[in-house]
Amino acid sequence: MIQHSGMWIDTHCHLDAAEFDADRDAVRAVARQVGVARCVIPAVQRAHWADVAELAERHGDAYALGIHPLYVPQAQEADLLALDHALRERAGDPRLVAVGEIGLDFFVPALSSPEMRERQWFFYTAQLKLAQQHGLPVILHVRRSADLLLKGLRQCPVVSGIAHAFNGSAQQADAFLALGFALGFGGTLTYERALQLRRLACDLPLSALVLETDAPDIPPQWLYQTAEQRAQGAVQGRNSPAELPRIAQVLADLRGLTLGDLATATTRNALRVLPGLARA
Ligand SMILES: [Zn+2]
Repeated sequence: MIQHSGMWIDTHCHLDAAEFDADRDAVRAVARQVGVARCVIPAVQRAHWADVAELAERHGDAYALGIHPLYVPQAQEADLLALDHALRERAGDPRLVAVGEIGLDFFVPALSSPEMRERQWFFYTAQLKLAQQHGLPVILHVRRSADLLLKGLRQCPVVSGIAHAFNGSAQQADAFLALGFALGFGGTLTYERALQLRRLACDLPLSALVLETDAPDIPPQWLYQTAEQRAQGAVQGRNSPAELPRIAQVLADLRGLTLGDLATATTRNALRVLPGLARA
């Protein structure tokens, strides 16, 4: 049993995902019991915007509104207008803390054709502009796309943000930090073979790090079922925000920190890059 060490913020949790339809409130309650005081729930598409806002309200959490790169193929240009409206309409809502989840994904083959790259860039930069206009941070999806994401940010600076599930180089990490971002670390850190990522998580200044689960995705090592196990009928473990303290323990051990000191530092970092969390 992981002891409570102050308060944790899961800076990236898809509590609105269908995987939680059967037991969403229970999942959130269990996470609270292990010390996850706050979840940030980023939206992935227009149809979910009302849901994430309602969820955040119900559980005392925070949310972000945006169009995720994996949802760009089916997104409409009119959704950007709708996003502008939604951000204006909800400007007084203390639980709205960012534009997200937005970004670029060049890992998924279907999204990597020249046409889709251009379409992703269009939606990414348009949403950056909205974040800038509304004075909001951004939550970024980074997959084989760090350099282009950085280029977009230099063309259209925003107040701050999080490069979520960061898995880039030390140089790319430094570039995000120079633009006022924090880097999100989660379940991937729990795999012993993630040597490069573990080294980065140790070498970066503590002020650079925020914690996240990305639940229901990115199961930590103790929930992961191999392809072989799955072939034999095992179900892939569903990640949940309650895993955050145990993921944090891995990072604390890697850095030689107490869990309490890591909680204090990562919470402070989250509040710095998502200042709205202080009001939510
Ligand atoms: Zn996500």
